[in-house]
Amino acid sequence: MNKTLDYIIRFLLGDDLSPDLCATIGYTSDRSLFHKYTTVIIPSGFFDEQTYGTPASLPPLPLHEIEGIPLLFGVPRIEKIGDTLVTHADLIASSYFLISRYEEMLKRNSRDEHGRFPGNESLPYRAGFIHRPVIDEYRLLLRRWLRETNRNIPEIPKGIRKINLTHDIDAPFLYRSWKGLVRHFRDNRSLTGAIRAKFGPLENDPFYTFPFLFEQNNALTSISDNAKAQAFYFLKAGGSSPQDKPHYNLKSRDMQSLLDAIKRQNGTIGLHSSYQAGREPHYILREKKRLERAVGHPITCNRHHFLALRQPEDIESLEAAKITDDYTMGYADIAGFRLGTSYPVQAINPVTRRLSPLTLHPLILMDCTLDDPKYMALGDEEATIYCLELFEQIRQVGGEVTLLWHNTSLIEKPESYQRKLYTLLLNELIRE
Ligand SMILES: [Zn+2]
Repeated sequence: MNKTLDYIIRFLLGDDLSPDLCATIGYTSDRSLFHKYTTVIIPSGFFDEQTYGTPASLPPLPLHEIEGIPLLFGVPRIEKIGDTLVTHADLIASSYFLISRYEEMLKRNSRDEHGRFPGNESLPYRAGFIHRPVIDEYRLLLRRWLRETNRNIPEIPKGIRKINLTHDIDAPFLYRSWKGLVRHFRDNRSLTGAIRAKFGPLENDPFYTFPFLFEQNNALTSISDNAKAQAFYFLKAGGSSPQDKPHYNLKSRDMQSLLDAIKRQNGTIGLHSSYQAGREPHYILREKKRLERAVGHPITCNRHHFLALRQPEDIESLEAAKITDDYTMGYADIAGFRLGTSYPVQAINPVTRRLSPLTLHPLILMDCTLDDPKYMALGDEEATIYCLELFEQIRQVGGEVTLLWHNTSLIEKPESYQRKLYTLLLNELIRE
């Protein structure tokens, strides 16, 4: 547990500062120890054995605020005791609650039809701060307090420090299978047309929007230095739930040609763990091995299909499969900051309170979250405004942007704004 709390202090401080500084921050209510620290955070009691894991540990609404930032635990009181700044705002428990998905452990019955914890039942949504990376805001606050105790702490540079352009390949092609040929014939009543759709140039397939996608992504990845912008392609490699259809053969000529194209773009290939693996996490390893055999190199990145990494403790199965980086952590129904941060953060299992070596890259924005009538149901303009507001929040705290656009969202069709919006957002990010 101490290792977990030490990590949270380190995470709150920021990775640009010396780790020695962590020792100057105390997490104690023992007044006789205050003089050892420049800053003391008084524990709110959240971690006490009689409280942790019980309904009484959930923060009541409305929340307190400290300097305009929602505070989950403790009270916004600050005092000076001797040379030590002492705060009763429990930034550590507040951060732990969000990073560990503690609420999801406690509310096991709150799940949608896919077994996922719904964003609209989450505390960040109910308390009205899902669009704010509050932990990153705590970081700015803590660093300002340290500066007040005469520490030489630099300001965090404003701006977006990293951009992850990610794509889940649920259905790479529409007409390239025998089933696709039949579908084409049924829809168009032309046998030559259907044969051409299956055997002709891949680029003519409506789902194969990759040439456009690569061109868009390249405009950003090729100008950014130090790999500031990186593209990821998550591929399925199994799953027998109906939601795992359509299946594609990773070794087929079409898939091999797509894989080659991704490699030529320096794209990173990751595992798109199946819906079934979301229910039965031991399947993750099997799927990862299958993908590794098809691409010929180790796979270390993951995103779950349907974002269905259902229980917080399922991170253990990712770890067991030697996945080092996961990109699943966003809500399908609301875009924003599920983990309270825009920074990559080590996972915490709230059941065991153990710090995991797995890094979570918070997913900020998924295409269908914005326009799906079941989710945010935003029109063109509202969606653009919401996305740009999230970017601005990240700029203010110097964090990272992770976007998820499916190849099938980028089809040109009058009823969808996704292709236009993706282009607009990338143009916005190029100016960073
Ligand atoms: Zn998917």
